[in-house]
Amino acid sequence: MTIEKILSTCVYCGAGCQILFTVDKEKNKILEATGANGVTNQGKLCLKGRYGWDFLNDPQILTKRLTGPLLRKNGRNSPLEPCSWEEAVGFVARRLTEIKKEYGPDSMLVTGSARGPGNEANYVTQKFVRAVLGSNNVDHCARICHAASVAGLLVSLGSGAMSLSVPEIEDAKVIFNIGYNGPDSHPIVARRIVRAKQKGAALIVADPRRTETARISDLHLQLKGGSNLALVNALGHVIIEEKLLDKTFIEAHTKGFEEYRELVKRYSPESTESITGLKPGDVRKAARIYASTKNSVILWGMGVCQFSQGVDVVKSLANLALMTGNFGHSSTGVGPVRGQNNVQGACDMGALPNYFPGYQSVTDKEAREKFEKAWGVKLPDKPGITLTRVPEFVLHPPTPEKKLRAYWVFGEDPAQSDADLSEMRETLHALDLVIVQDIYMNKTAEFADVVLPATSWGEHEGVYSACDRSFQRIRKVLEPPKGVLTDWEIFSRVSTAMGYPMKYKNTEEIWNELIGLCPSFYGATYQKIEKFGAIQWPCRDRNDADRGTSFLHKDGKFATKDGKGVFTAVDWHAPVEVEDQEYPVTLSTVREVGHYSVRTMTGNCRTLRNLEDEPGWVQMNPELCKDLDVKHGELVKLSSRRGFCFSRCFPTERVKKDAVYMTYQWWIGACNELTIGKLDPVSNTPEYKYCACRVEKVEDQNEAERYIKSEYSSIKARMGVDKEVWA
Ligand code: SF4
Repeated sequence: MTIEKILSTCVYCGAGCQILFTVDKEKNKILEATGANGVTNQGKLCLKGRYGWDFLNDPQILTKRLTGPLLRKNGRNSPLEPCSWEEAVGFVARRLTEIKKEYGPDSMLVTGSARGPGNEANYVTQKFVRAVLGSNNVDHCARICHAASVAGLLVSLGSGAMSLSVPEIEDAKVIFNIGYNGPDSHPIVARRIVRAKQKGAALIVADPRRTETARISDLHLQLKGGSNLALVNALGHVIIEEKLLDKTFIEAHTKGFEEYRELVKRYSPESTESITGLKPGDVRKAARIYASTKNSVILWGMGVCQFSQGVDVVKSLANLALMTGNFGHSSTGVGPVRGQNNVQGACDMGALPNYFPGYQSVTDKEAREKFEKAWGVKLPDKPGITLTRVPEFVLHPPTPEKKLRAYWVFGEDPAQSDADLSEMRETLHALDLVIVQDIYMNKTAEFADVVLPATSWGEHEGVYSACDRSFQRIRKVLEPPKGVLTDWEIFSRVSTAMGYPMKYKNTEEIWNELIGLCPSFYGATYQKIEKFGAIQWPCRDRNDADRGTSFLHKDGKFATKDGKGVFTAVDWHAPVEVEDQEYPVTLSTVREVGHYSVRTMTGNCRTLRNLEDEPGWVQMNPELCKDLDVKHGELVKLSSRRGFCFSRCFPTERVKKDAVYMTYQWWIGACNELTIGKLDPVSNTPEYKYCACRVEKVEDQNEAERYIKSEYSSIKARMGVDKEVWA
């Protein structure tokens, strides 16, 4: 037996924990995963980090690993059949060339992937879209999560990333935690919050649910869902009214304060009580605590971003930090904690419709000319469309010429993860060409004309960006199945077939090309990442003295053009679809600690799969359960104006009577059948956190259980799994 120890980075969240794998090289199997001494995790791992590698063994619990390309050889209605790589690449290149010729470059959209592939693959993807297709129609799942943070903070501070590092959280004196539950989404980041508490920090939590974080808080503001901006403006109101602000900082380092001061005059805690449901005394107390130190940190997650007013709330949170001088030094500032492991990286690499790699705007002539020279082509200067607008541009395009015809879905599963799934299915049906590139069969692949199988995390080299801007290496731990290619090689082959040769030898060659084009990343070479374990951008110099930047906006110098932080004054408005008689409760999507994203990876890990299974759970207040006469574990039917699904009742005092909560990874309990596709007008992020729905008792539980079981078997069969694994 040849045993090797191989260090890599976890694939399950932006905390970027380092994992040491023990590998049997002869059998090509992982034997064990233990926490390595990474900057964020210090030897610790959560259960996904410890047990989440089993999918690499292809246990075929939910889906089958793709081991060769599949093609519908006789048109849309024919089955997907195995084919050679030459056939698959030839088909993709021919169809994209035809569509481009007939309908133009903007009739196609390609996604990047924030999951396993890594930064180099995302760089090659966006280069392919821009240089070969001739469009900026490239986007990825940041659009459905932290796009609001990027858009809002770019305006307020000039940089859309976390201003501090994960380790700095534990030395904060105050943590204002809004719309974020670290124990479910980033357990190792949550550990720093606990440590901060142990060191004496005050913890304020704003969340409609009594989350694990709320339970250890000093003050829980259990606000009504959809009222974030009213609360944040009320906090600003108190800070100004009670003269808790930092006038020197405001005068020296910001602009726009007077307009903001005028607006928040209308937002006293008393006048907003009917919107937030919060006692004015609690809001005043929170404002006083937050403004009491220069080491106050604001952490947020999807409970801020996944609203139709997400960008406005992000800017308003930045207002709080600006007005109290909470920038410019360690353990202070703002922390949009990125969810998926490499969502920061996919943004860094320019898998966005408006930015080249390194946040260089496609509308900036100088930046565009630099990339044109490097890539040897003329590049488009108009931002592309966002992926959440794909349904609109397919089903209801602004003009017939603007209709989207082709969708290349790389490492995502919109038929499971996007809002309003029935509309998404209609969209996928209506496209001329759907290309899916993934490691597993998934719901979107059922609509694909061609499926391109890729190597998984653990089977290729690369770099991820953690939520705090840390570049860290991922390494090849196992040999991939024969018949799959790395994601960057797939794009390179199609590019070459379309007449733009890409001949990269390895990920380091790709990395060197991209850091050479991005001043903020220029100093982060493979050698330095290897030597120091992690390099946080900005890192502009290649010598070892430049180890990167732990916190941004040093001494109050912001990344905006004039170096000033920008106040934005915005009024609150109600969510788009509020409850009524027909749909009397609200639905919010949330996360759970044991599963990741659409579950194709964690659902195929034996230990994690044993935690929960279809159709998942809906969190309901016991009073609502009593009114509906439903008990723990019973199946209930949930419906909205867009669809329905079944789930199991989970009574809990942690939620209010007027709201229910579901996670989005279940096929049968698919909460995105219910969610609404209404978007924030700037970030284009859907309002996953608020729509009106109805919960009903299912009278015949036996019949419903039979339905769940047969539906589950049928989907698994469609995903290529033959054997019966129903417990
Ligand atoms: Fe992986 Fe995140 Fe858990 Fe760390 S906290 S082990 S990165 S899932």
